[in-house]
Amino acid sequence: MKTTMTIGGKVIAKETKMTDAAHRQGNAPVPGFPTLPGLPLISPLALTGPLLVALPCLLAALLGFNTYAPYGADAALGIAVGAAAVVAMAQTLILAARPPMVEPLFGGLDRMYRVHKWLGISAMVLMILHQQIEPDFERLVRETSLGELGEEAGELAFNALLALVAISWFRRLPFIGLEVPYQIWRFSHRFMGALFAIVVFHQFFVDMPTGVDPALSMLLNTFGSAGVIAWVLTEFVTPRLRRREYTVSEISQTGDTTTLTLSPRGRAMHWRPGQFAFFRAPEAGMSEPHPFTIASALRPDGTLTFSIRALGGWTRSLPATLRAGTRVQVEGPYGRFDFRKGGARQIWLAGGIGITPFLAWAESLTEAERRDIHLIHCVRAQEDAIGVETLRAAAVRNPRFSFEVVVTTRDGRLTAEHLISAAPFTVKDADLWFCGPTGLKDGILKGLKVQGQTPSRVRFEQFEFT
Ligand SMILES: Cc1cc2nc3c(=O)[nH]c(=O)nc-3n(C[C@H](O)[C@H](O)[C@H](O)COP(=O)(O)OP(=O)(O)OC[C@H]3O[C@@H](n4cnc5c(N)ncnc54)[C@H](O)[C@@H]3O)c2cc1C
Repeated sequence: MKTTMTIGGKVIAKETKMTDAAHRQGNAPVPGFPTLPGLPLISPLALTGPLLVALPCLLAALLGFNTYAPYGADAALGIAVGAAAVVAMAQTLILAARPPMVEPLFGGLDRMYRVHKWLGISAMVLMILHQQIEPDFERLVRETSLGELGEEAGELAFNALLALVAISWFRRLPFIGLEVPYQIWRFSHRFMGALFAIVVFHQFFVDMPTGVDPALSMLLNTFGSAGVIAWVLTEFVTPRLRRREYTVSEISQTGDTTTLTLSPRGRAMHWRPGQFAFFRAPEAGMSEPHPFTIASALRPDGTLTFSIRALGGWTRSLPATLRAGTRVQVEGPYGRFDFRKGGARQIWLAGGIGITPFLAWAESLTEAERRDIHLIHCVRAQEDAIGVETLRAAAVRNPRFSFEVVVTTRDGRLTAEHLISAAPFTVKDADLWFCGPTGLKDGILKGLKVQGQTPSRVRFEQFEFT
């Protein structure tokens, strides 16, 4: 038997994990809803970023090949892959700086991080090729001591980068599931920029024939400097500039979830419900920034809420370490998970702590909201059902919003059949917004497909940068 909470004549429930990824299946228009055109499978804007990063790499390879073609195919190819590697590596560092204006070109921070990851891996492959093909100009140039130093520096940076990229790439070891602890991974990642500076030194000083097309040097020097500057900004400058100071004004515990209310000490942050921010509490010895969804809407007093589930060492130590009055820092906002981009009928499906973006959305709902929305929050135990008061208040304000909590230990797992019967509209005409464990999403989507009720669009947020 399912325990459902029926409010405003409708029912809802579910559980989560987070990325700003958008998976859309089909694109059925919702009749009678005026302003929301259907979204294509992948927004063209989100493709702009990957294209913009690929083009300079290609350009560097072409310029490298053309410029050194007179010295033979091997030399030209070696330079082409080396030049593309420098540009790719520079761009990984630029993206790691999380430039806010660039994020929309990738369709969200998580997608930007994915491009960052694949650029890094591509750079490494190109560096290996560069090292294997190693252009040999020894007979053509007069060797200098600086040039030799440049060559040795290149070797050193190459080997160290190879090790760091391997750690990053195999953060989770395939098949055995062993995971490099995040702190070690993050710490090793920090050195990438310093090693890249050595790569820039290598490309600048290594002995090369003179009198060749200066366009290649200009391109490499521009990207080389931009990459190093981006790294310096990421590590030493922007975190300080983007951080806002807050004080913990309330702290409460429900099951293994800690809810913090933070009050601004100066200028408050502005965010769109569904966005996330990086949170740290150096005063309490918790300096590592961790990403959390802001579980509240904008409020006149500037306060914001995080609901944080104890999943690892850092999050477990939170309740014992933080107190009302502790000074903390918040950096953001980031993310593009926004139900207002969706259609007239929406199912919001949350698994466990994945309820947080929906709590922010529900708090932001006014009586003027014209979408029909049904939220299902799947939790393992009743105590995991956080934010019920917020949901209840939203349902009272707006009768088009309804919700339901499905407690797995009591009601069994949520099924597609249950979702179809609970939704106050036809599921295949609705958008599905999801935040929670991937298994839940996949299981429900599979069940809906079998029933011929695949939602018109599926968008999800993951609590993980993949
Ligand atoms: C966009 C986004 C929004 C999130 N929103 C919420 C939320 O509202 N509530 C909530 O409880 N959790 C949320 N999370 C998950 C939360 O960030 C992790 O559970 C937390 O950082 C785990 O830290 P830990 O050291 O306790 O756990 P660990 O066991 O050390 O780490 C577990 C996993 O969390 C990730 N992680 C650890 N440290 C960091 C870090 N500093 N930065 C990024 N990832 C890290 C790693 O992938 C790691 O494998 C969100 C994550 C993301 C990416």
